[in-house]
Amino acid sequence: MKFYVQSRTDELSNQLMETAKNYLEDFGMEWSEEEPDVVLSIGGDGTLLHAFHKYRGQLDRVAFVGIHTGHLGFYADWKPIEMEKLVLSIAKKEYEVIEYPLLESTIHYMHSDEPAVYLALNESTVKSPDVTLVMDVFLNDSHFERFRGDGLCMSTPSGSTAYNKALGGAIIHPSLQAMQLTEMASINNRVFRTVGSSLVLPSHHRCVLKPVKAPDFMVTIDHLHLLHKDVKSIEYRVAKEKVRFARFRPFPFWRRVHDSFIDNEK
Ligand code: NAD
Repeated sequence: MKFYVQSRTDELSNQLMETAKNYLEDFGMEWSEEEPDVVLSIGGDGTLLHAFHKYRGQLDRVAFVGIHTGHLGFYADWKPIEMEKLVLSIAKKEYEVIEYPLLESTIHYMHSDEPAVYLALNESTVKSPDVTLVMDVFLNDSHFERFRGDGLCMSTPSGSTAYNKALGGAIIHPSLQAMQLTEMASINNRVFRTVGSSLVLPSHHRCVLKPVKAPDFMVTIDHLHLLHKDVKSIEYRVAKEKVRFARFRPFPFWRRVHDSFIDNEK
């Protein structure tokens, strides 16, 4: 079995990376940055997001596991002191793989037949670079609303505890094949109207955003920020691909929500 360790590159994460590498090689596992079966991410959720994007072309094989060297993360949920236990379980293959849904974002351009397609583990957001975002929102080809405001956020279930939560969106259990559209400061008055609530869409639905005037947008895909010019439409759907996490012990999603947002003392 092949493995790779992605470090946040701070001193503690690098030290732990060396320890994990030595242990796993002692157990006969092979270091492979090109084609790992297990990717150990050491740092925070951001480190795991980077690892996910590095291996987005190999998601059907790679299983991710995260150790946090800062505060408890959603994806980085192992403590550094648990490293030996973790490494032993990886070497003995004593883990199960759980799969979480992803978001597919397809950006179509006015002057090109080649769309850009991205996979997100947390979310994609759309903002206007300088003016208020004005977008027509279509759900399954039917016009739903004209949005005016700071921006829109489409999140995955596992990303629902990230940016989406800060925007007042619901927390969605990652066993649900869904995506959630959440508003950022919509303008609502007698002239302009949006639904105001987050929308949770099932996997057979699609959401298309079409520019009303300005066709240039800042689009984020997890930690990646990209300026897209001459956009015709942005299409969101639940991706066919899934992300695979190696689970070595039960740590139910709602327990992680509790420990991250309520208290982590018990
Ligand atoms: P980062 O790694 O510093 O992440 C920012 C914070 O989000 C960290 O505390 C991290 O633990 C937390 N986080 C990431 N994914 C999470 C998840 N699925 N559930 C709960 N918490 C999670 O910053 P980055 O590398 O730029 O990461 C990008 C992510 O930051 C984006 O995917 C977005 O979700 C998040 N973000 C949040 C806000 C906000 O809460 N207002 C604003 C912008 C971006």
